[in-house]
Amino acid sequence: MSFPTIKIVGLDERFPARRVYCVGRNYIDHIREMGSDEREPPFFFQKPADALVLDGGDFPYPPLSENVHYEIELVVAIGKAGRNIVPADALDHVYGYAVGFDMTRRDLQGVAKDMRRPWEAGKAFDHAAPCSAIVPATDIGHPETGAIWLKVNRETRQEADLSHQIWSVPESISHLSELFELVPGDLIFTGTPSGVGPVKPGDTMVGGIEGVGELTVQVV
Ligand code: MN
Repeated sequence: MSFPTIKIVGLDERFPARRVYCVGRNYIDHIREMGSDEREPPFFFQKPADALVLDGGDFPYPPLSENVHYEIELVVAIGKAGRNIVPADALDHVYGYAVGFDMTRRDLQGVAKDMRRPWEAGKAFDHAAPCSAIVPATDIGHPETGAIWLKVNRETRQEADLSHQIWSVPESISHLSELFELVPGDLIFTGTPSGVGPVKPGDTMVGGIEGVGELTVQVV
């Protein structure tokens, strides 16, 4: 199987996706709503690249869950390989940015947390990673502030600012690159602000990040 490829805004070529990394907790208000430790260093999990939902595709409501949540996240697309990257150099490794939804079977994630089991059933299921087109950093720079929001059926559910991230994009890249060699094609979902909640079939999720773009996904 070949890697999925992601549309790049303004170009005919596409971005071949390799790994999908996610930052576990990165906004203080979301940590509080989940009742987690606020002083924990960042941690990471992965979704399979074939869980990406691209080009305006639908999100099929997954099996074995009655509590499927949206999480809007800034997605970083890595364009240059590196390991042990220091924060001051980290942005040199960024190709561009996108808007992503870290879809979560919250009930199965809760069971995994309680039983000290891995998170795959809650986080890495089929179609769990809707992602917008990538906008190159050469076009928009590196957003450090700006609104990040998500609406379900036109009702605002999440509303925050990128500046509320605990670990900045350079810090997240630096930490992650100590654990894994980063390679062009890697994506990093950089965590969600508060306001996460459930969706059901028929719902329309629209999320946006100022300066990056918007993503609309239908739950079917
Ligand atoms: Mn998340």
